[in-house]
Amino acid sequence: MTLDHVTTGQAPPPPRPSLHQVENQAHWPWLPKDGVGVLAPHPYCRDCGLVKFVGAARALDGGGLSNLLAKLSRRLHDVGIRTTEAQRRLIMLRLLDRQADDAFGMSRAAQDRILAEIVGKHLAVPPDVVRSYLHSC
Ligand SMILES: [Zn+2]
Repeated sequence: MTLDHVTTGQAPPPPRPSLHQVENQAHWPWLPKDGVGVLAPHPYCRDCGLVKFVGAARALDGGGLSNLLAKLSRRLHDVGIRTTEAQRRLIMLRLLDRQADDAFGMSRAAQDRILAEIVGKHLAVPPDVVRSYLHSC
């Protein structure tokens, strides 16, 4: 995805198709959930072989990331760090550019790291500060 439609004022491009082909559930490997103890079937992509995180480590989808960004913006607003709609849209586009909504290639922790980095860059706030507010969302 490019940012061309932002500067030209055109409608954003349609959502991109799913990057991965989920293998039939009968073939899902049983792996430790969240990396510890309890085993659970994990979906994986038949094309690239990436295994999806399940449980608490599961990544948010695009809508979930958007909701998290909105919550983070409200939390930052409470402490005097204001965000505009344009900044939130650009942050969301940067997240999608980095494929942060890819549930197969991302864990929730990786999403939080990328979100803190991008929000920090756009709002000129250290990513560590953003992460501390992110944990309270
Ligand atoms: Zn794949």
